[in-house]
Amino acid sequence: MILYDEAIKRMLSNAPRPEVEEVSVSESLGRITACDILSCENIPSFSNSAMDGFAFRYPDNKILTPSEKFKVMGIIAAGDDITQLRSTGQNEAWEIMTGASMPPDCNTVIKVEDTCRRGEEVIFNQIPKFGTHVRKAGEDFAVGDSIIKQGTRIFPEHVMALAALGVQSISSVRRPKVGIISTGAELMSEGSLSPGKIRNSTAPFLTGELDLLGTEAKFLGSNSDDPKEFLKVLRGQVDKEVDIVISTGAVSMGKYDFVATALRDLGAEILFHKTAIRPGKPLLVARLGKTIFFGVPGNPVSTAVAIRFFVEPYLRAIQGARPELGTLFKLKSRIKKPEGLRCFFKAVSFIEDGNALVEILPGQESFKVSPLLTANSWAVLPEAGASLEAGEKVRVFGLHSWGTKEIVFGEKR
Ligand code: AMP
Ligand code: MG
Repeated sequence: MILYDEAIKRMLSNAPRPEVEEVSVSESLGRITACDILSCENIPSFSNSAMDGFAFRYPDNKILTPSEKFKVMGIIAAGDDITQLRSTGQNEAWEIMTGASMPPDCNTVIKVEDTCRRGEEVIFNQIPKFGTHVRKAGEDFAVGDSIIKQGTRIFPEHVMALAALGVQSISSVRRPKVGIISTGAELMSEGSLSPGKIRNSTAPFLTGELDLLGTEAKFLGSNSDDPKEFLKVLRGQVDKEVDIVISTGAVSMGKYDFVATALRDLGAEILFHKTAIRPGKPLLVARLGKTIFFGVPGNPVSTAVAIRFFVEPYLRAIQGARPELGTLFKLKSRIKKPEGLRCFFKAVSFIEDGNALVEILPGQESFKVSPLLTANSWAVLPEAGASLEAGEKVRVFGLHSWGTKEIVFGEKR
């Protein structure tokens, strides 16, 4: 049995370099950027008004006073071309709409609410400061700015920025392809339950979770507990079809736990089998040519932990994204834990009186799915010790990470 950190090290030393492909911005949601994206334009690309009002030239050597009168030269709307407009003199102003180009020589905008229109003239009821309500060219993005770092997952706000900059496509990491196999003679996928059978709940969980993680996941099938069938499914996929295979069940000590033997028969290199964690101790990770194999224990919460704390770090590594650090929260109450095991516990994290607290939920057994519906996070307890006191700090990770941007659970970098 190896420690969690050592297991991750072994697993990541087998991570291939990211493969790059160009994707259109319209299809880039959820993709991981393969390099830094720089701005090749200024945004705004021209100085424009932030308000509906009047654009004017702040005089060089005159102090403006309230009740100052300006002659209105015309009206400029958003989208108007102002290149042919004549220059603006002192005590001349242009009626201007939000987003319209600043007319020549104008440097300040007074909002319409602070003015009084009298025919061809406008009276300023109060005097704005120099430069007020003007959006300067390049104020949002300037040419050469790094706008999205390499290894970033694309969210709609990134698409907004890329669209504003006129970017059509980006260099992205190829989406990892993942195959899912369920083992277990007890599993049923449809119909009412026969005696001794259960429903396969983790195959749909994995398909959904891997979809949230931005992979192309496909269910390869369920193979009761027959090693020959299992090897047949596996042989068809390895090296060609998928980057990662995740099989559930049959990695423990039971008589029908055949996965480790079957993999050895196939010539796989077992990177580790059994890690000092709870839940999920029997997890097996192996390499079959270029394909990495995760044999995750069948209990649903063990499967969820294996995905969150093994498969996900691997997915980040092969896509060139930074590892997740989690955030320190204080334990709400004293908690017992098995000595020597790193524990990934279903938890609720919250802010109370300005303190970031984490409460470990009852029902930590690995077959209990119901607490996951209340949980919003995973609390990670260190190997050392058989208990932790209230107030001790532990690392907390969001229940899902790449499904949402890391706001509460991310760390400022
Ligand atoms: P195993 O890892 O094969 O020893 O299975 C451990 C426990 O998880 C057993 O109670 C199995 O019935 C259960 N289990 C295995 N696979 C699944 C699955 N796909 N969905 C729900 N429970 C499962
Ligand atoms: Mg089984």
